[in-house]
Amino acid sequence: MPPRAKLFPVKHVIALDVGGTGMKAALVGADGTLLYEARRATGRERGAEAVVESILAFAADLRAYGEEHFGESAVAAGVAVPGIVDAENGIAVYAANLGWRDVPMRRLLGERLGGVPVALGHDVRTGGLAEGRIGAGKGADRFLFVPLGTGIAGAIGIAGTIEAGAHGYAGEIGHIVVRPDGPDCGCGQRGCLETLASASAVTRAWAAASGDPEADAADCAKAVESGDPAALEVWRNAVDALAAGLVTALTLLDPRTLIIGGGLAEAGETLFTPLRAAVEERVTFQKLPHIVPAALGDTAGCLGAGLLAWDLLSTEVSA
Ligand SMILES: [Zn+2]
Repeated sequence: MPPRAKLFPVKHVIALDVGGTGMKAALVGADGTLLYEARRATGRERGAEAVVESILAFAADLRAYGEEHFGESAVAAGVAVPGIVDAENGIAVYAANLGWRDVPMRRLLGERLGGVPVALGHDVRTGGLAEGRIGAGKGADRFLFVPLGTGIAGAIGIAGTIEAGAHGYAGEIGHIVVRPDGPDCGCGQRGCLETLASASAVTRAWAAASGDPEADAADCAKAVESGDPAALEVWRNAVDALAAGLVTALTLLDPRTLIIGGGLAEAGETLFTPLRAAVEERVTFQKLPHIVPAALGDTAGCLGAGLLAWDLLSTEVSA
């Protein structure tokens, strides 16, 4: 740490991104600078209560770190969590992979952090906020962020904020049906986009086609690059389904920028070149958005949590 940090207090917030197995955290300065970063396990194998306690303890340790190294306590905190989130009331409603139900996260964190204001956000929408404001969508007034990971989700960016919807479900593009006779989805429908074009879906399809149960989506991308016809077919199916889902979304939302992230986007132009072509082929009257890879990688959620915390302070001042 720079020695001046001890001499001059540095105003900062706590940012926490809670994933299925790991948590990423940071202390973030007013200009968005990451002053300190840390990672820790959620301890989900010990149950939902233990996960909540890990989050609270992690936040408290970050607060202590800030006091020691930056001369003052964090002035606010932002936390991104997976699953269903009631951001307005600060409640982590449900997360299948963490096992909790109706955790009053904002109140619990506020209590543990000496009463500072706390913002709670949905992980994808929080990551989307960061991608839209300081990442790949910087400067775009309308964007759609779509991470292709275990599943597929979306964040709808409008004028610097993310649209959550009336009930907190806006942006669930992964459950747009693109193949009505397609595979069963966990949501109860068939042929949802995420059953066909998520990193997990490509992994499943390539493991089956290649006969190697260990093969994953990244291996499929490599096989595509070397011209393997079986891989090309798996890839084409996924890209085609993805283009169908994205065209539905852009017909409805007319975004200026379409930011594609998650594990599958790491294939780079192996994904983006055929994807842009497939989208272009499908649109008629719709305007084509810029289709770009996400820029912030797996720090997007944490950076977004920091933005949520700073936003909270600016709205409190202006309120
Ligand atoms: Zn579904």
